[in-house]
Amino acid sequence: MSNVVTRFAPSPTGLLHAGNYRTAVFAYLFAKHSGGSFILRIEDTDIARSKPEFEANIIEALAWLDLKTDTQYRQSERRTRHRELLMKLIAADAAYVSKETPKNKGDREEVIRFRNPKGIVSFTDVIHGKITMDVSDLGDFVIARSIDEPVFHFAVVVDDADENITHVIRGEDHISNTPRQILIQRALGFISPVYAHLPLILGSDRTKLSKRKGAKAITEYRDLGVLPEAMLNYLAFLGWNPGDESEYLDRDALIDSFDLTRVHKGAAIFDEVKLLSVNQHWMRKLPDTDFIMHVNAQYTSAIDVARLKKSIPLLKERAHTFNEAREMVSGELSCLFIEPVLDMSLLLAKEPNDHPGTTKAALEGLISPIKSLSENVSSETIKDVLMPFADAAEAKKKGGRGATLWPLRYSLSGKERSPDPFTLISILGPEEAITRIKKAIGMLENK
Ligand code: GLU
Repeated sequence: MSNVVTRFAPSPTGLLHAGNYRTAVFAYLFAKHSGGSFILRIEDTDIARSKPEFEANIIEALAWLDLKTDTQYRQSERRTRHRELLMKLIAADAAYVSKETPKNKGDREEVIRFRNPKGIVSFTDVIHGKITMDVSDLGDFVIARSIDEPVFHFAVVVDDADENITHVIRGEDHISNTPRQILIQRALGFISPVYAHLPLILGSDRTKLSKRKGAKAITEYRDLGVLPEAMLNYLAFLGWNPGDESEYLDRDALIDSFDLTRVHKGAAIFDEVKLLSVNQHWMRKLPDTDFIMHVNAQYTSAIDVARLKKSIPLLKERAHTFNEAREMVSGELSCLFIEPVLDMSLLLAKEPNDHPGTTKAALEGLISPIKSLSENVSSETIKDVLMPFADAAEAKKKGGRGATLWPLRYSLSGKERSPDPFTLISILGPEEAITRIKKAIGMLENK
């Protein structure tokens, strides 16, 4: 074990979006790369705005991403300790109870202010380099609204020190808070941690990613059927890369190659299209049984699993999320699982004559070659076997290959749009294909 300790310190005042979790991912990867620990601190001291359901959502999201924490606690559990150190600062005259003139209704008549020594504070940020600020302008800033209500700056400093946090990895929006926090650390005799302020994440409109402007809660992506390994991979690459061409890294590879000094200074853009293409990559890598499990038990019990299994290449080719895969199973690919109901005018859409004879003959001509196919034959072989019939059929003279291939595909699928007929037969199997074609022939006979 190294002594590296990082933390993720979200406030449970809303549903956090994927960009917020990038901070957790970087803090986790850095800790694990260094053989150290990763802590979750729920910063729930804002009683009015903190809600248990938001805390539950944070814990759920971290569990989904499998960012295991070594310690997990709520800031509110440390109130006694915060009070003790506030008293210590007051006793040392580094802070004092200040009488205030309330400006607005509800303002306090008394707060606790930090005695600002003024002057220059500098620190070296791993990502931004040396940062220097004149703290004189901050005046004697407030560190608690009362002895039992420390403000954010104070509680953060105390908790980071008590947990021996070695590296504070957080959003760039906290840079301006850091000098204040360093002053409090000095007054309490704490060693300052190393700081790494991560660049902002912008939405595709290049403004700060925010829930208010429609950024999804990360758990919404889970519910859409994004894989955690895809989200982890995508978030790790938001403002960082391993310095080579690789785009797809699993958890172990990310831990192995993560390096804070390679984090970019500039803002990163959260691009949902890219996220979904990373997800498609990880979906394609899943073994069949896992893929079927993700498509959902609800479907697998109601439909033919063998056919679902045979549809996996189609689903892997087209779907970017498991939601999309499920929609395909119940939508454009439903004909693979439920026998279609045919519409006569669509069946005859490519009939070159006034009567259905050519279409009927074209379908009849396919029965025996399909019968000759073995059960698990590939769509390429099926194409090789059937194409010559489409080419030779009487229908071709007037209607081209389509005069055979259209009614074939339509009688198998009952849909204007579907995968090609060879793929359909490869999934349905020759027997089911023949049943469907015969049904279409029967309809034509009765016309
Ligand atoms: N609770 C703060 C936030 O949600 C983070 C504080 C910190 O990382 O120091 O922005």
